[in-house]
Amino acid sequence: MRKAIRNLTAGHPMPYRGRTYSLEIRKTLDKPQVKIDGDRLTVNFYKEHPEVPVQVPLVKWYRRKSQHYIISRTAYWSEEMGLSFNKIFIKDQDSRWGSCSSLRNLNFNWRIIMAPDEVIDYLLIHELAHLKEMNHSTAFWKLVAQYDPEYKLHRQWLKDNGKAIFLLLPKLPVSLLDSIFFHVD
Ligand SMILES: [Zn+2]
Repeated sequence: MRKAIRNLTAGHPMPYRGRTYSLEIRKTLDKPQVKIDGDRLTVNFYKEHPEVPVQVPLVKWYRRKSQHYIISRTAYWSEEMGLSFNKIFIKDQDSRWGSCSSLRNLNFNWRIIMAPDEVIDYLLIHELAHLKEMNHSTAFWKLVAQYDPEYKLHRQWLKDNGKAIFLLLPKLPVSLLDSIFFHVD
């Protein structure tokens, strides 16, 4: 049996890059779409698919936005730090924010896009630093501090707010995510 998906209703606060938007749901016959509109995060959603929860278009939108932002921002920090990576994967993990593999691949959880920009930067710097220091040694933290002097604050932010972010949009079954076509611009 599938775990019940908590219903997100209109007016729910939705974080995105450090700002909070109010969720607006519009049932429409037009092309489904998610967009930021002033202080609202508006979901134009299929009228004829009442069984598909609003989380589906939201997850797709956040994930796409995250992919664009993380890829360009990681390129920036990679250059700044003089550390090159192989590939970036944007993942839908249950609790991890990021990781770095011995193949020099970087993995990031798409949900990080809900955090403020400086916290996103901290995560990117943290994983890039692992390309040089594959541990959490003093040398590792020194390298992180060189590019993010306030890393302790940013790390704490993730500890304090991470759980709420994971609870807001938990991992959805792939079958559900694939159940509708959804255009993300
Ligand atoms: Zn680490």
